Amino acid sequence: MFAVLAAAVVSAAPVAVHSYTSGEAQFSANTWLVETARGVVVIDTQFTVSEGKAVRKKLESLGKPLLAVLLTHAHPDHVNGTAEVLAGQKVPVVALAGVKTVLDALDAPKRAYWGPQLKGEYPKTTVFPTQLVKPGETVTFDGVAFTAHDLGEGESADETVWATGAHAFVGDLVMYKVHPWLAEGHSGAWLTSLERAKALTGFEKVYPGHGVAGGRELFDWQRGYLEAYRKNVKELAKGQPTLSDQAKKELEARMEKVLPKAGLAMLVAMSADAVAAELK
Ligand SMILES: [Zn+2]
Repeated sequence: MFAVLAAAVVSAAPVAVHSYTSGEAQFSANTWLVETARGVVVIDTQFTVSEGKAVRKKLESLGKPLLAVLLTHAHPDHVNGTAEVLAGQKVPVVALAGVKTVLDALDAPKRAYWGPQLKGEYPKTTVFPTQLVKPGETVTFDGVAFTAHDLGEGESADETVWATGAHAFVGDLVMYKVHPWLAEGHSGAWLTSLERAKALTGFEKVYPGHGVAGGRELFDWQRGYLEAYRKNVKELAKGQPTLSDQAKKELEARMEKVLPKAGLAMLVAMSADAVAAELK
């Protein structure tokens, strides 16, 4: 009996999970703040300087020190606010090595695209992860263990599920009840990654990168959306790698029926050609 107890992994449970969500102009991105007995672990850091500052304010309102920043994936609406969240503190910024590789590749093109539009709201420099983990590796802060599951391609080229006890922070593997970014053209791989996420055990609560938290049914909801999007793009593309402007309008109308009055609707047309090329 004692041997069994000694062999068990000792991990404290989080005290509470708090959230910060940006406005739609900053893509309604979620930051999750995991409160432990003596500190806070922040998961993802928002898109703009102001949103990063807002996360810092939320963190300070909890009255406990920042222990670490964990990143789910390399898109700018999840990593850009890191400097503002850290506010000069030296705590680990943790990501899968694969996520760091994607961030290395995306940093310059994303900065070139968004920098001139956002001016001072785009961070002057990118904070890169300071601690890299391997798939399946666990990091522990204040006795609370977080395991980094590498799910591979999804909304971005590499997605992490950060799991601790009953909680799983899944980044944009789930964009719950908003229209997702599919313009990187790996919607098929995303479906496979969702099945792999469903095979992970131990957690019941799922915290998405966009949209409200829920149970494990969020994975099936995301699958349903992706299947509907792919079916409609396939019908409208008629074997071509792009959609006409008229076909994109029809796609928007069809996806509005699938998910009425939802956020990030501008992404429906923006993603169409990439998925048409993928399905060709
Ligand atoms: Zn996102």
